[in-house]
Amino acid sequence: MTTAYITHEDCLLHNMGPDHPESPVRLQAIRKVLERTGLMDHMDQLTAVPASAEQIQLAHAKLHQKKLEMKVPREGVVYTDEDTALCPHSLDAAHLAAGGVILATNRVLSGKAQNAFCAVRPPGHHAEYNLPMGFCFYNNVAIGACHALLQEGIERVAVLDFDVHHCNGTVDIFKDRPEVLVCSTFQYPYYPERYCEIDRPNIVNCPIAAHSDNSVFRKAIEERWLPALEAHKPDIIFISAGFDAHKEDPMADLNLDEEDYRWVTQQIMQMAEKHSHKRIVSVLEGGYSPVALAFSVQAHLEVLAGF
Ligand SMILES: [Zn+2]
Repeated sequence: MTTAYITHEDCLLHNMGPDHPESPVRLQAIRKVLERTGLMDHMDQLTAVPASAEQIQLAHAKLHQKKLEMKVPREGVVYTDEDTALCPHSLDAAHLAAGGVILATNRVLSGKAQNAFCAVRPPGHHAEYNLPMGFCFYNNVAIGACHALLQEGIERVAVLDFDVHHCNGTVDIFKDRPEVLVCSTFQYPYYPERYCEIDRPNIVNCPIAAHSDNSVFRKAIEERWLPALEAHKPDIIFISAGFDAHKEDPMADLNLDEEDYRWVTQQIMQMAEKHSHKRIVSVLEGGYSPVALAFSVQAHLEVLAGF
């Protein structure tokens, strides 16, 4: 079975300035490693198409979309919060990022791919129903999950997020939708400090103290995520694949490495095999050391592609 690799070169045009960590270099580094190792040749490479306004509004207020459209500058950058900025190409890239996840979902649900990885930016998991934040404008993974739930035979989905930051946006969008299980591991206390303590049966928040070793992460997956997945039995699993909990990542203070990403992907694969017809759509979120990011994505994809 095939692993689809979905991206678009215009995702590189979103540029928040030369010193911003969420830079086009991230996607270039991933491509370089996947090409050099030959892994790219073993995947079905597809080009993202932009999400429509209706598709964006599966997870966002119409007003959210309108406000962003009004803010796009003709040149330079305009900040939507202290660390998130729009350049003239940002929203086009954001539509491609969300559309890439919809394409991935369609490929997996139609059986044309067993699973898919979306190498897209801007990332999405901090974007709430009516709020852009934390480098995110549209919640790509949430839009894909909402799209999946509209398809015949898809009644329950799971979104699994191992980015070092808590997925406040994904929780905001799904907190009152019990058909969506959201599991998150994240450094705590740490940005963004929203929805970390929410109490809902479909939200599994696993805070991890800074400087914890990888056994704490693995224990959270084994003791919290896996039992929740066993109970939820999702028809398809989405992954918010952020790699900024890597020990070499400059942004945060957890101590994972490539082998932890390989391990967690294996755990998710086993669950998908058991409950979800092997269907997985993985979506890039954070990861700000280009080298650590690229090697982590390689480990993640080696498992997804069955290497
Ligand atoms: Zn992050």
